[in-house]
Amino acid sequence: MKCGICKSEMKKQLVEHRELGVSLGRFPAMVCSKCNERFYDSATVDKIQAASKKAGIFGMANRVKAAKIGNSIAIRVPKGIAEAVHLKPGMDVVIHPEEGRMVVEVL
Ligand SMILES: [Zn+2]
Repeated sequence: MKCGICKSEMKKQLVEHRELGVSLGRFPAMVCSKCNERFYDSATVDKIQAASKKAGIFGMANRVKAAKIGNSIAIRVPKGIAEAVHLKPGMDVVIHPEEGRMVVEVL
């Protein structure tokens, strides 16, 4: 099997699958020897989705709009994410940049 991205040879491997920083376990995949692109067969995709649902993170990545409030930017936290991290209105959080990302720590 050839890689769909770079056309290099792919090998079957057991790989750790992570979503949203959570390890969902190891799954069989075809992995590109050059660019590391992974290909899972449909049965494995179903198993990964089941593991994602079991871990409570399935569908947890949300796209939200940043709004302007004075000189700051406000981001709405969807209910499911707020519940997952036990965030409630009025609580303090620590916010900081980290490797090009924004980290919000619930205290
Ligand atoms: Zn490749």
